[in-house]
Amino acid sequence: HTIFLKDYAPTPYRVVSVDMDFKITEAVTRVRTQMTIEPRAETAPGTPLVLDGDGLTLDSIAIDGLPLMLSAYAANEAGLTLVEPPFRRFVLETEVNLKPEENKKLMGLYRSSGTWCTQCEPEGFRRITYYLDRPDILAPFKVRITAPREVAPVLLSNGNLIEAGDAGDGMHFALWEDPFPKPAYLFALVAGALGSITDTFTTMSGRKVDLAIYCTHGKEPECAYAMDSLKRSMAWDEKRFGREYDLDVFNIVAVADFNFGAMENKGLNIFNDKLVFALPETASDANYANIERVIAHEYFHNWTGNRITCRDWFQLCLKEGLTVYRDQEFSSDERSRPVQRIHDVENLRITQFPEDGGPLAHPPRPDRYREINNFYTTTVYQKGSEVVRMLATLLGEAGFRKGMDLYFERHDGEATTIEAFLKVFEDASGLDLSQFARWYLQAGTPTVTANDSYDAASQTYTLTLSQTTAPTPNQPDKPPFVIPIKFGLIGPNGSPMGWTGVSGGTVKDDIIVLDGDTITLTFTGVANRPVPSLFRGFSAPVRLASSLSQQDLLFLARHDSDPFNRWDALQTVTTNLMAGSAAGKAPSNGDIDALRQAILDTLGDTSLDHAFKAQVIAMPDEAVIARQIGANVDPFTVAQSRKALIGAIVGPAADRLSAIYEDLSINEPYSPDAAQAGRRSLRNGLLSLLTAGSERGAALAEAQYYAATNMTDRYAALAISARNWTPAALALLGDFRTRFGGDPLVFDKWLVASSQAPDEGVIERMRAILAAPDFPRTNPNRLRSLLGSFVMSNPAQFARADGLGFRFVTEAAAEIDHVNPQVAARVLTGFRILPLLEPKRREAARAALEALKNLQGLSRNTGDIVDRILAG
Ligand code: ZN
Repeated sequence: HTIFLKDYAPTPYRVVSVDMDFKITEAVTRVRTQMTIEPRAETAPGTPLVLDGDGLTLDSIAIDGLPLMLSAYAANEAGLTLVEPPFRRFVLETEVNLKPEENKKLMGLYRSSGTWCTQCEPEGFRRITYYLDRPDILAPFKVRITAPREVAPVLLSNGNLIEAGDAGDGMHFALWEDPFPKPAYLFALVAGALGSITDTFTTMSGRKVDLAIYCTHGKEPECAYAMDSLKRSMAWDEKRFGREYDLDVFNIVAVADFNFGAMENKGLNIFNDKLVFALPETASDANYANIERVIAHEYFHNWTGNRITCRDWFQLCLKEGLTVYRDQEFSSDERSRPVQRIHDVENLRITQFPEDGGPLAHPPRPDRYREINNFYTTTVYQKGSEVVRMLATLLGEAGFRKGMDLYFERHDGEATTIEAFLKVFEDASGLDLSQFARWYLQAGTPTVTANDSYDAASQTYTLTLSQTTAPTPNQPDKPPFVIPIKFGLIGPNGSPMGWTGVSGGTVKDDIIVLDGDTITLTFTGVANRPVPSLFRGFSAPVRLASSLSQQDLLFLARHDSDPFNRWDALQTVTTNLMAGSAAGKAPSNGDIDALRQAILDTLGDTSLDHAFKAQVIAMPDEAVIARQIGANVDPFTVAQSRKALIGAIVGPAADRLSAIYEDLSINEPYSPDAAQAGRRSLRNGLLSLLTAGSERGAALAEAQYYAATNMTDRYAALAISARNWTPAALALLGDFRTRFGGDPLVFDKWLVASSQAPDEGVIERMRAILAAPDFPRTNPNRLRSLLGSFVMSNPAQFARADGLGFRFVTEAAAEIDHVNPQVAARVLTGFRILPLLEPKRREAARAALEALKNLQGLSRNTGDIVDRILAG
């Protein structure tokens, strides 16, 4: 059934404090919970108390130490009801026994490689104990863990360690106390035989914090980069937002089986180990950057998420969008701001735009859900971040900081809402944000159309801007958004073009605010016809339909002072040519020559850094081209047109490109720093162009694969060979498999590369990989590497006309669903491209989903995704 935001109501009872006692043994974990509970002032006597449970069996129950009569409560798998609780403060004590070993959903308490660990967000705590498992119930926790010393020498929970010692019979214990009231989704417990690295951080007020990262024995040296990232994150949050850490310890634990990237549990972050472990031989530059980003993200949650949390799960974006904004800002400050921006926008266009334009579209703050786990989406996270970024743009840096300060001051210790968040910015700036709030409430990517004209006689420049947003599920009408358009006008010689007056709309400094359906701005005193540079830095998450010619776009690519728009102008030219050619309109030689020249000029521009150039030469993703085409897409033709255009661009320039490729080789020892990583990414970008677009690339890739001394270069050569299905591809995949056979995270890279092959045999090979008896079918990383990357990044084979790709995925998902519904549901979101496809493929996709839907016993996670895609 569906849960609606409008039905929100506080619970009749609140939790004052929680004391938990875990007794862990190999066979079973006994959980005894004592919670002090009291009715709220407005609660009527006799109101039942309903606690959440999921898969629990109640073993004993008492109130204030007295066992309850059977008639006083009702308990089952899904909950515990006290029929008539005392009308005063009381202590409820319950006991349940768990079998973590059998928990393959990886929610609640489970075991990963022998280590006991937890994942509670969003609704996992109810799999550990009966509780008011919702984010608006905040309480301080005390947790006592007793476990066999041999198997679990390390015992961790949230907060500070207050006592530890021997418990007899080979057992020992630890007592943890978290003084900060928190919702149950931030609860964590870890028990196991783990190694660790330690460090310290002194906060700005001079408090010393002990830092530790725990991992499987032997992996300690691989945690160093994560520790370095943590210390830089702590320093950055002090400097940029004035936020200081608040406990004596900060612990991170890396585990091998994890449904998501990582989790911000108070003082005890738990991480998917792929976001902790890094050595040059086994991790790529992209892995390093991701580790830095996610370590920062989870750390930043301590203030945006933990100290201030969400009232209900509809507000998820309150903590996630804001925290993504903070981690993007961190990465921008630590690395190159323009390159980071390009990277983030590219990711938004490849993942979020398709979501927002398809059957799974939902606003950053949804108003209904059947399964909350299906709303940890790119819309909530990445679009949520874009909305915060627009606030920062509209308020300016100082105004935004003032609002954030007020947010921390006003709401510390609360579970709050998007409305409260917007209110602090209204109060800090005096702006009315009621229309701006639509960004949180309305789904869909607006299209902004720009048309301009210049009248030389009157030196008047006219710019008309309009917005439209297509209907999305449950939202047929879209009143206009408030769209900040950062802009500049560029004169014929490439320098900024001024004006003496402007009328027809709101223009403040370099920002136009489009808040109606359409505005026409008239600029007077404009000496020459300018080229407009709109949405500088991607100032709003929209699609721009501009009337600029290819010539004007190439002019921007050369002259715009905004690096993002320089990049975007070239991407637009390339995407348009590829989309046009897929629709049967072959690009002219003149167009191709001009594009090639612009790319070569960028490569030759010594004022630009390597990482930026790498982004410029990266060819648009097939998903971006498909979106540009808009309907009736045949992904196979898209892939072919893309490759053909790359060939046409590269052809006459192959010598030049290979010379630059050779020049970029690095002789110093590997370092993951931005400068070296940028050089490698440009070199590998050239290799990709040469392999897709010329005869010589395949051999270069093969040679690079064998010569490589780090994972970045070796994996790039492997992936490029696989994606272009070069003559050596199969042999390289075979070599890679045996070379790194024992490392699960490198195995994931092999799975990703294997899933990207464009040849007809790819599905057969993936079937064989999945069917191998030793394939780790309960590990989310393995499953996502093979299937997730296939559905998202190999559209030509996933969306084959014969339906084989669709059926392969639905059949695999049906099996996974019995083990781990979250992973199955996530893989199936790849079907969101369905409405974009040409009719034959669309029918094949539909048939595969219908067959899945008809199976018995599908999880709510999977059922929800399948139903929404079929309904859309
Ligand atoms: Zn987060």
